[in-house]
Amino acid sequence: MLPSCTQAFDRDAVLHANNTGQWNLDHATLLPPRRAVIRPGYADSEAVAAVNPFGARVEPLTVSEIRRSMINATRGEIERMPLPGLLEVIWSTREYLGWIDPRTPLRGHLVHWREGQPVGVMLRAAEGRMSPGISAQCSLCRTSQPAHQVRLFSAARAGQAGRDGNSVATYICADLACSHIIRILPPVSELQPEPAAVVTSRADALLARVTAFTAGIRGVETASNG
Ligand SMILES: [Zn+2]
Repeated sequence: MLPSCTQAFDRDAVLHANNTGQWNLDHATLLPPRRAVIRPGYADSEAVAAVNPFGARVEPLTVSEIRRSMINATRGEIERMPLPGLLEVIWSTREYLGWIDPRTPLRGHLVHWREGQPVGVMLRAAEGRMSPGISAQCSLCRTSQPAHQVRLFSAARAGQAGRDGNSVATYICADLACSHIIRILPPVSELQPEPAAVVTSRADALLARVTAFTAGIRGVETASNG
């Protein structure tokens, strides 16, 4: 079931949406802090994880595990790869760990777990941005938002295909933080009497899509790319 997140979110307005400040902590080492404006509800991560049919989401990772997980990077790229501050990460609220170092803003990194193993990919953001004043949708979390908050990322294919110059590309939240935005609870209404269930559905769909995305980089077809 696809997430019902058709509302356009302005991240400058809704980031720091949780009550515990984990957004600040997660990004403190690499991204400049953002201004908190409003504090909408935030889904309880333990409750979401408990009913997730995919089982483990992102389990805690070490620096070594992250480096070894990269499937589409050269040894030199992996050695030079910037890393996020892992001590501050709240793993139970993640379908994937994504980060961008402001010193190399066109380089993105994403790691998720698949069948008990971390799978990491390096991404390259397109230099151009979409026109302001329109909305765009992230292909992973399917959240509609102002277009400047979504970027086109490409990823070299793994193995020989990548060395031959093949890549895949898709639009993703520019800060690679889909897991945060999907946990902003929708208001209770007759159509959505259980906002936490909406978040669970979004999380399941995000996990399936990120798995399909990295499978495409590996050159493996999956049935979960809807
Ligand atoms: Zn997203």
